[in-house]
Amino acid sequence: MTLMVVQTAEVREALERWFGFHTFRPSQEAIVRDVLDGRDVFALLPTGGGKSLCYQLPAVLTPGLTVVISPLIALMKDQVDALDTAGVPATALNSSLAWPELRRRLDGLERGDYKLLYVAPERLTLPGFSDDLERWNVARFVVDEAHCISEWGHDFRPEYRRIAPLRERFPTVPFCAFTATATARVRDDVVAQLGLRRPAVHVASFDRANLGYRVVHAPRTADALVKWIAARPDDEAGIVYAGSRANSDKLADVLNAAGIPALAYHAGLDSATRARRQEAFIRDDVRVMCATIAFGMGIDKSNVRFVVHWDVPRSLEGYYQETGRAGRDGLPAECAWFFAYGDIARVERFVEEKPEGERAAAREQLERVKRYAYSNECRRRELLAYFGETYPHEHCGNCDNCVQPRASFDATLDAQKLLSCVYRVREAHGYGVGIAHVIDVLVGAKTEKIDRWFHDRLSTYGIGKDRDRRTWRHLADELLRLGLLEQDAARHNVVSLTDAGKRALAQRTPITVREAVAQAPARRGRTVAAAAGGDEAYDRELFAVLRALRREIAAERDVPPYVVFSDAVLRAMAREVPRTPAQLRSISGVGEKKLADFGTRFLEAIAVLRQAQDDTVH
Ligand code: ADP
Ligand code: ZN
Repeated sequence: MTLMVVQTAEVREALERWFGFHTFRPSQEAIVRDVLDGRDVFALLPTGGGKSLCYQLPAVLTPGLTVVISPLIALMKDQVDALDTAGVPATALNSSLAWPELRRRLDGLERGDYKLLYVAPERLTLPGFSDDLERWNVARFVVDEAHCISEWGHDFRPEYRRIAPLRERFPTVPFCAFTATATARVRDDVVAQLGLRRPAVHVASFDRANLGYRVVHAPRTADALVKWIAARPDDEAGIVYAGSRANSDKLADVLNAAGIPALAYHAGLDSATRARRQEAFIRDDVRVMCATIAFGMGIDKSNVRFVVHWDVPRSLEGYYQETGRAGRDGLPAECAWFFAYGDIARVERFVEEKPEGERAAAREQLERVKRYAYSNECRRRELLAYFGETYPHEHCGNCDNCVQPRASFDATLDAQKLLSCVYRVREAHGYGVGIAHVIDVLVGAKTEKIDRWFHDRLSTYGIGKDRDRRTWRHLADELLRLGLLEQDAARHNVVSLTDAGKRALAQRTPITVREAVAQAPARRGRTVAAAAGGDEAYDRELFAVLRALRREIAAERDVPPYVVFSDAVLRAMAREVPRTPAQLRSISGVGEKKLADFGTRFLEAIAVLRQAQDDTVH
């Protein structure tokens, strides 16, 4: 291999010219350096960290073809569209191509027309493909989503095992592996499976400063979700993750009924419907996807502004992957988990029903998820700790626990009332009742059940009249969290005292609980988010016009809108209101080719709107 010495200035210049970016994201420059030096590389960057640039930039800077192995056709298509739009010659080979188109691309590869080639791993073992590669002057192999090679990862793909033999066939060509998911075990496995040679290992911080995390502890109703989404600007798209097909259908119905355009997505739909719905989301034709975790991998849409979890995430790692799909463009985005205690009990039961061999691991996963939900600490800190990273600040200022820390207070007396009411009702009743009935008894309600079961004769009937149902509900949640009460999901969530609860009741142990969170609408404008560059004021009317233009151009070219310009670029335009090509070019994300192709149309749109706005003022 002959190595080219590429100067730093040259790298920066190419970053500007092809991608229109003024600066690198953390770790990008060092990775680009190592790739350019011809080293094997293993790089771990969070979703949205900007992995593609790390090999696309070297690809335009050096002779030869960069071969990218990628697991999904949809992903390849997006990447090729994005490169095309930026003026970088790239193509993909996959089984979905009709012969004439395939021939055209193969001819281009023979001529050396392309800087990048995307292929699925299956292609690597097709007869003759290695010979083709020999002729195409491969500069490096890039393995995207490299964790797919490991059985220890969450997304093992046996086809990835076909990559390793390439190493023998191309002993002098460097291999670069990229992933957003890797525990230490997966990391070592990837390096071993790919046979990486003394790789330069880059592990970027997993912190996504522009993402806000919150656990919504308010009663989880569909109405609460509608309100939460409705409080956000209606040009913001998002994903609602549900734990079941039924829930994703139901939530989509509820949102549509409330006037929020939504589609369901799950494995129960045929593949054509799924593809159509995914496309509608990617193209900004529908605002919300209500989906099971079947949705997400292969979604490069950079302007996902919120991710909601409706059911209990399966693991903290999964949660982080799913929330990671928000805010890839670096603008502020929200991740909210609508939490319900009853769900935890249900998942616990589900875990206990697993085969012996899987139980311990599943229990541990659930424990981590629970601890996260119940925690009072900075959520970012906890998430990063899960990945073995220490967040360097005590508070991030961009999670519910940092923004609205909740005070603790002594609730011994009320807790005693509630615990003894549970105890009395159970004693009187023989078998259990749900928490709603216990609260009815506490507040002295007159219900059919209370009548029928004579629960108005209990000594605890009406002893909690002085507080409203909400307060009791919150206290019950806290006692569940503290392990003094438990719910039995196998029996309609009936509540009972745990041994600790019985002891606390008998010994009058002091009980401290946290305040309920006031139900706040989605927050806007925060400290850390400002650092992510998204909080400055911009002209919303202009933004809407630019968005419409972007959509029009995207439709003409048959590409997703974010491939034309990201939301971050449009917001910067709506903030800085460029008048000249030079001003437009100075916006991050406006490269040479995009300026040439779309500059005039965007400048015109800006001028026209500004004129109209001036006319209204005068
Ligand atoms: P990943 O594959 O790591 O999830 P991508 O490569 O898709 O991330 O990049 C995420 C987004 O960040 C894209 O919209 C990309 O254009 C943008 N991006 C990448 N590098 C930079 C940079 N240096 N400056 C600004 N934006 C960047
Ligand atoms: Zn925090």
